[in-house]
Amino acid sequence: MKKLLIFAAFFFYLAAFAQTPEPAYVSRVSQVSQTQINQTLQEYVNFGVKTTGSANNTNALYWLKNKYASFGYSQSQIEEDPFTYGNVNSRNLVVTKTGTLYPNTYVIVSSHFDSIVGPGANDNGSGTTAVLEMARILKDIPTEYSIKFIHFSGEEQGLRGSQHYVTNVVNASTPKMSIRLVFNLDQIGGVAGQMHNTIICEQDTNNSPSGNNAASAAFTQQLKSYVLAYSSLQTNTNVQPAYSSDYMPFQNNGEIITGFYEGNGSSNPYPHTANDVIQNMDPVYLFNVTKAALGALQHFAIASTYLSVNETATPQAAGFQITPNPAKNFIEIHLDEPRNRDFEFEIFDMSGKKVMATQGEKGINISSLPAGMYLGTLRYQGKTATRKFRVGR
Ligand SMILES: [Zn+2]
Repeated sequence: MKKLLIFAAFFFYLAAFAQTPEPAYVSRVSQVSQTQINQTLQEYVNFGVKTTGSANNTNALYWLKNKYASFGYSQSQIEEDPFTYGNVNSRNLVVTKTGTLYPNTYVIVSSHFDSIVGPGANDNGSGTTAVLEMARILKDIPTEYSIKFIHFSGEEQGLRGSQHYVTNVVNASTPKMSIRLVFNLDQIGGVAGQMHNTIICEQDTNNSPSGNNAASAAFTQQLKSYVLAYSSLQTNTNVQPAYSSDYMPFQNNGEIITGFYEGNGSSNPYPHTANDVIQNMDPVYLFNVTKAALGALQHFAIASTYLSVNETATPQAAGFQITPNPAKNFIEIHLDEPRNRDFEFEIFDMSGKKVMATQGEKGINISSLPAGMYLGTLRYQGKTATRKFRVGR
């Protein structure tokens, strides 16, 4: 439930604030899939208007649970959080991934899944889809802090689900739940046909209480640097206040918050109308915002910087080498099964941008690539493996 803010002129960050991308994080960001995003968004929209307490709202909750189960999350990780206001009953969904070093301190990444008047493709199928895509990719990735992926309901009726969660779960836990950060995603889908190169990073400017504002400013500054490091997007340089979404009950509780909100330059007429449909938003923008969010979430929760066995695949599954390394104008791909040419090979730069794609070629001309580090990803018989290599000039 966001109302239009009139933005001051935008100024964009330059490289001075850039964060060096972590290669393992880049590799996971490169797994964000436009196909997955489009499919998830379509499934969400297919439930129709998901008014809090309605049958459609409940069906969407069950769909979310099934998504997490399909990603491999166990039933004990997937919890419903029922709440009531007036005579309306609804449920939040909370999925917990336990941290390796700080299991009792949480990074919460949240988005509401209820909609009002329309099917809510942008508000907030966009945030819902981004959270699901991050949970899918991070399923087997160790993180030092625990992560809670939370899908709130009751947002459009006045932050009912998130307020319930803060009062009845965060504060009712003994000891009180320890939260490192709340990272909220609401309306990050943009407008079809508009140019979107900016995502707004929102920070806490609310003075009741004000003791958490400096920490929110610091995390939001980091968030901006991760946007630049892991996506093709820019961010706002002026302060954009957090308001009217599920981070606010946390803010009021003294927690540290940050958030993403779409950065199109003019007003968006579709949210809270029957026209909040996929055709009126920009799924490619959502794809880019999801990349930025996944880069940031890995830093916030301190994800492993080692590619796991799953990510690099077993040598028998998709073993290969890239030579020479460092390389100059050509690289050669050496497969463990040398006669096979039924493979695809993609090269990503350290910002996660795909810079080359080939099919079945074992000698590849890379003379067009600037000097630097790259990740080469091989897909072969349904398996994937990634190798790092350097191009010297
Ligand atoms: Zn919303």
